[in-house]
Amino acid sequence: MPDQYAVIGNPIHHSLSPQIHAAFAQQTGQDMAYQAVLGALDGFAEAVAAFRRAGGRGMNITVPFKLEAFQLADELSPRAERAGAVNTFRFQQQKIFGDNTDGAGLVNDVQQNLGFSIQGKAVLIMGAGGAAHGVLPALIDHGPASIMIANRSPDKAMALANSYKNQADVRGGDYASLGGHRFDLIINATSSSLHDALPPLPPRLFAPGALAYDMMYGKGLTPFLAFAEANQAQSLADGLGMLVEQAAEAFYLWRGLRPQTRSVIENLRKK
Ligand code: NDP
Repeated sequence: MPDQYAVIGNPIHHSLSPQIHAAFAQQTGQDMAYQAVLGALDGFAEAVAAFRRAGGRGMNITVPFKLEAFQLADELSPRAERAGAVNTFRFQQQKIFGDNTDGAGLVNDVQQNLGFSIQGKAVLIMGAGGAAHGVLPALIDHGPASIMIANRSPDKAMALANSYKNQADVRGGDYASLGGHRFDLIINATSSSLHDALPPLPPRLFAPGALAYDMMYGKGLTPFLAFAEANQAQSLADGLGMLVEQAAEAFYLWRGLRPQTRSVIENLRKK
């Protein structure tokens, strides 16, 4: 039987991860199978245990379980520990090893695929959930001038910012506090696009040369990217590149091989 892997989330029907890992496995000649698992909102730990019992070797974790996955892991990579969120499990004999590949995925996409340097830039992150937790350490490591975190529930943004206060200029607040500020890199790490919604953003948010990045991906522009286009952001990107890059990091953790990502991103775009 091929080695078994899965992605777990709720909802999960939109996930491209099975296609991405199938492409990586084919490219590198690995005998593995990868499926999507719908986790009940109150049944994450049970679903993970059931997959392990059935012989699973590893899992990716997506919305809304990344913070719960952090709690469930027995051992953590340093980047998962710093992030306080887990998006990848590797099942070991008796233990669950938790890692977080979202930050590396975002930074690889922004810097290598899109050619945008984070160094010295004013960064805005919208959202303070699992994805925002996951990408903050990697963003900080690439030397931005400042990071602002805005969230519908501002207390979560402030708590998240506070946990990095000794590492960089990181602040948290609500969307109203963004008025009068300009940013070079604006990342939508909320799940608002999943519901076809947009957080209440002031229009003059984009500095000259700004990149608007929506972690969500799909057909056409998300509400955030449509807003960015209408408000003079210079470049727009959806999260497909990040998805493939974070998957490549997870694949490396599981299989010890680094797959090529560009052709996989291009093929998914064509579809
Ligand atoms: P979580 O459920 O952990 O967090 C959701 C966040 O979105 C919270 O900050 C929440 O605010 C906010 N939010 C939800 N709905 C709205 C709304 N209508 N208006 C404003 N804010 C809203 O999700 P994740 O952090 O795990 O994921 C966030 C998004 O990032 C998802 O769309 C996911 O698909 C995407 N993602 C993409 C990746 C990729 O590789 N491309 C990787 C990781 C994530 P509040 O705290 O107030 O509830």
